[in-house]
Amino acid sequence: KPVVVIVGRPNVGKSTLFNRLVGKGVAIVEEEPGVTRDRLYREVEWCGREFVLVDTGGVVESPESPLEVAIRRQVEQALEEADLVLFVVDYKTGVTAEDQAIASMLRRTGKPTLLVVNKVDKFDPPPVLSDFYALGLSTEPIPVSAAQGLNVGDLLDAVIDRLPPEDREEERPQAEAIAVAIVGRPNVGKSSLVNALLGEERVIVSDIPGTTRDAVDTFFTWEGQPYILIDTAGLRRRSRIKEEAERQSCLRARQALRRAHVAVLVLDGAEGVTMQDKRIAGLIEEAGRAVVIAVNKWDLVPSSRKDAPRYLEALRRELYFINYAPVVFTVAPEGFGVTQVLTEVERALANARRRVREQELWEVVEEAQLRNPPPRVKDKRLEIYRAYQVAVEPPVFLLQVNDPELMTPYYRKYLENQLRAAFDFTGTPIRFVLRRHK
Ligand code: GDP
Repeated sequence: KPVVVIVGRPNVGKSTLFNRLVGKGVAIVEEEPGVTRDRLYREVEWCGREFVLVDTGGVVESPESPLEVAIRRQVEQALEEADLVLFVVDYKTGVTAEDQAIASMLRRTGKPTLLVVNKVDKFDPPPVLSDFYALGLSTEPIPVSAAQGLNVGDLLDAVIDRLPPEDREEERPQAEAIAVAIVGRPNVGKSSLVNALLGEERVIVSDIPGTTRDAVDTFFTWEGQPYILIDTAGLRRRSRIKEEAERQSCLRARQALRRAHVAVLVLDGAEGVTMQDKRIAGLIEEAGRAVVIAVNKWDLVPSSRKDAPRYLEALRRELYFINYAPVVFTVAPEGFGVTQVLTEVERALANARRRVREQELWEVVEEAQLRNPPPRVKDKRLEIYRAYQVAVEPPVFLLQVNDPELMTPYYRKYLENQLRAAFDFTGTPIRFVLRRHK
């Protein structure tokens, strides 16, 4: 989908416009975590055309603080991805030096740009826009009032007009973005991994308290598949006190997991699995998310322990409750293993979305019962009458039984293993729900 990026100096009404455009168009259909709820990227549909609308922070040309440098860099990155730029200026204040600076930045990028003059609260008499030609953009200024929703439809028409032609779009895979949460305790290399994934330094690293945005998500595409990295800014906010930092990383993980399709649990390969790693792994499992384990700092693992199969076996024992997670060995700063993480993320998500037909499922469940009869309490044996899949992400299997109380954790695990042997559920938890058959 084409990407439309909103830029402009602070206070011109970018966020208001963003919300207005999203509200005018049809916001995306699916209630997918991470896609609908994140603030910076929204899919918008207008007159049958879809595009991704991106809201950026403020742009400041003569930066006074590191945060502004960072935001500006982020805007530059956003501009790289943009198929169309909406440059927002303020009718009430007129053209400022900052606007001029942004305009010259935009001229340099040569991206197709629409000049949006916001805060035009009256269209009768028609607003005087001649001043805005001074910005030297080869485009008619489009007056709107984002706050009142005036002329926003016309703006959307103009956006659609300027998007790259549809057929070019068809060539691109129309894949939905995969929302990925990179989680792990402090210092294992999460930020390094994110930077390696992006191929350049894109994560905002400013540490000014109170000024960083709450959750900045980062968007990139790899081999035609769009990804959203959730809360990349949060990776940098950390306390100097170890316990506090760990508590924060748990909190962050919990929030990021809510919006993610897939979690990447980053471990420090040299340090091995700690309590804190287990805690975070537990959160991932509880959240029901697909998961990939990145054993980072593989370069620091002493050669005596660098036997991958044996290392894996030990790791799986430690993290037995997510023993279905694929493991990738990485050296983030060198980019080693990094694209393989993405390959596994895609695979894990595909497996989390796998639907098994009732017939095939029943064959496996029946076979499993023959091989290893269900548990019995006194004279009563668990009987399974029917099994079918009721959900994906994660897959949930409903078992109709004579008495749910008869199920044991051991037998549950056994059934899970049988299903995993029959179908590829690598990287995803699976659940059972038992219902008494009447
Ligand atoms: P975060 O707190 O999880 O985001 O960790 P960082 O990405 O900030 O990394 C912590 C430190 O470990 C930094 O000094 C990194 O340069 C270093 N580091 C990260 N990954 C690796 C790795 O694979 N190998 C080595 N040798 N160092 C790494």
